Amino acid sequence: MSDAVLELSDVSYRWPGRAGFALAVPHFRIAKGESVLLLGESGSGKSTLLSLICGTIVPDRGKVNIAGRNITMLSGGARDKYRAEHIGVIFQQFNLLPFGSVADNILLPLRFAPARRKGVHDPAAAAAALCSALGLPDGVLGTKATALSVGQQQRVAVARALIGQPPLIIADEPTSALDATSQAAFLDLLFAQTEAHETTLLMVSHDPRLGARFDRVINMEDIAHAERTVA
Ligand code: ADP
Ligand code: MG
Repeated sequence: MSDAVLELSDVSYRWPGRAGFALAVPHFRIAKGESVLLLGESGSGKSTLLSLICGTIVPDRGKVNIAGRNITMLSGGARDKYRAEHIGVIFQQFNLLPFGSVADNILLPLRFAPARRKGVHDPAAAAAALCSALGLPDGVLGTKATALSVGQQQRVAVARALIGQPPLIIADEPTSALDATSQAAFLDLLFAQTEAHETTLLMVSHDPRLGARFDRVINMEDIAHAERTVA
């Protein structure tokens, strides 16, 4: 059995003030280097689950182990730092700094994560190398991120997640704004990067057609019990 990068046990969560939705995850585990696609219909709790994994929310009970540590035991500040050091996050809306350059955006995680900075001897060169690997044009680093096309912004979001090689990449429906050709190109680039560094990838989608590219495809209803009642 290989090491787990991510392991949830007996987790349950209810959004504060929202009696109508509760999520329970008895057990969910991802091994190092695995790529996993998590499918589920809208409202099934996929983004909630990712927030629990990232530690932006803490379960009411249960354990969330990331890279060997139960993050539910950490303070809010320590969890933020732990996330920056161990998880590269790609959001559905990319969440780029609107006034920052491409370089500012890509290098952002290193500011919060000393451990992730360790492997990056020359940050500007590392950012340039990622841009080039992800097919962004030369000289893009000084450009304002929001001046780029949607497809280019998405690559910047990927570069920001990958910089400093965190062991786990979490992506929440990153291809939903793209057409089929751009989706395939995006996945080629993402997989080329994660496979080169044995990075674990957990990607959420509601599109089962993406499944063939992943080591494992999981349906939300197989790992989680979502209780939806009208409050
Ligand atoms: P999915 O990503 O599968 O579409 P979500 O996790 O976003 O599902 O949503 C599951 C449920 O949690 C929904 O009922 C949604 O309204 C609720 N929810 C999601 N985010 C929040 C939030 N920030 N505050 C309160 N409720 C939320
Ligand atoms: Mg969602």
